Amino acid sequence: MRISPAIILLTCLGFPTGAGAQAVPRYSVEKLADGVHAVIYNSDIDVEGNTLIVINDEDVFVVDSNAGITTARATIAEVRKLTPKPVRYVVNTHWHDDHVFGNQAYADAYPGVEFIAHPLTRQDIVNHAFASNTFVLDLIEADIHRLEGYLKTGVYRDGKPVAGELEARIRNYLANRREAFADRRAFRPVVPTVDVADALTMKRGTREIQIRFLGRGNTRGDLVVYLPAERIVATGDLVVYPVPYATNVYATDWVKTLDALMALPAATVLPGHGPVMRDWTYVRRVKDTLESHLSAVRDAKKQSLSLTRTQEVVQLPEIRDSFVAGNEPRRAGYEAFFRPTLVRNAWEELDPAIMHAYETATTQPFADGVYTIDRRDGDGGITALLNPKDTVLVTSLAAAAPAWAAVRSLRELTDKPVKHIIVLGDVAAQKGALDVLKETYPKAEVLTGAGVISPDGRKIRIFSENESLAVEIPSERIRIERGGKAAKTR
Ligand SMILES: [Zn+2]
Repeated sequence: MRISPAIILLTCLGFPTGAGAQAVPRYSVEKLADGVHAVIYNSDIDVEGNTLIVINDEDVFVVDSNAGITTARATIAEVRKLTPKPVRYVVNTHWHDDHVFGNQAYADAYPGVEFIAHPLTRQDIVNHAFASNTFVLDLIEADIHRLEGYLKTGVYRDGKPVAGELEARIRNYLANRREAFADRRAFRPVVPTVDVADALTMKRGTREIQIRFLGRGNTRGDLVVYLPAERIVATGDLVVYPVPYATNVYATDWVKTLDALMALPAATVLPGHGPVMRDWTYVRRVKDTLESHLSAVRDAKKQSLSLTRTQEVVQLPEIRDSFVAGNEPRRAGYEAFFRPTLVRNAWEELDPAIMHAYETATTQPFADGVYTIDRRDGDGGITALLNPKDTVLVTSLAAAAPAWAAVRSLRELTDKPVKHIIVLGDVAAQKGALDVLKETYPKAEVLTGAGVISPDGRKIRIFSENESLAVEIPSERIRIERGGKAAKTR
């Protein structure tokens, strides 16, 4: 998930899954070939990415760095049990927290280690994952208080007494949250140093390692790592077991990317989460599932159903049951982070007007935490002010399609909640766009008059000028006028 998909998952589910048993090990280490090992986290305990360890003649190559310092250190300890050779390269397959927040542990343990990622992933790690750390810390702290409350009162949120298996689950999850809180307070940004936009083949002694971008899917910069001699592929979160993950996916591209993945002659598949696979059965099932949803959304589009209505209608319960298998936390995960978000992305992608607006708009950083999403054809734009814990939108978009496109672009930038929407220009003329923004951000306050707001401590002045509103951020000397253009003031 963009913001910490992982963190939201934990926050929303209450627990990663149904497991509370302390006897279940957190992860296992599996040998895949000579010098090639996988650290596989138990998906029933952690939202924690798998790691591939490739031991070469002189050094070690690792795929994905875990969700935090603690788990990354545990992985590093496993590497050291296997070999004294240093980790020289770490690939971040994509920007989600559970694959990148352990980077700093590798940098501490192996000075000079290089981090490899797609250039968009590097951008998203810096501007999205790492920039959300303060916001996520608050979520985790709230979780800790909530869990401590259950233990203190002895009553769970559904009124059930806290005892037995439930108590074990709460204590287990509380320990997990406290670990995440401590890790994130010690956070230091360690960003990728090597870009791979297309493909990079590395020869490390006798080992060949291919790093490939096969197309967008789970994110806009998913890399896979393929070892041709061993026929092993690490997929990142293009493949997630037991329930696929789709918070901010590129649904139509994902299908093609999975085809490209399955065209690799791999015999061993390490998914981003879940156990090692020996064939493409599960991946094919994920692809079929995506196609079924795309087809159902296409039908809904033909009937001009709204996004909300489409999300209600496209349920495909048989497919859901096949993934959920009667497990309640899995069902919650499917309903929070797969079906509705997949449908939303498909609904946008199957709308030519929205996609035209999305593809012809440019998202550009204007200042620290300030992005402009401008329409090239001059139909206004949106400026997003990303504060440490929330977002403010300044809009002068008129029509619905560009607003949907802006919402899609904004999701690529941040998951921090939109707190205020400041409307420049004629409110009545912007009804189409405003309806979309209100539907998408129902908790946001819509401001249409002069005034001063200070969200998250950032003072924003709204004033009238030339029969329109304009916005000024005095501390940063930024001014935004009707049309969406941001400018520096003197
Ligand atoms: Zn993941």
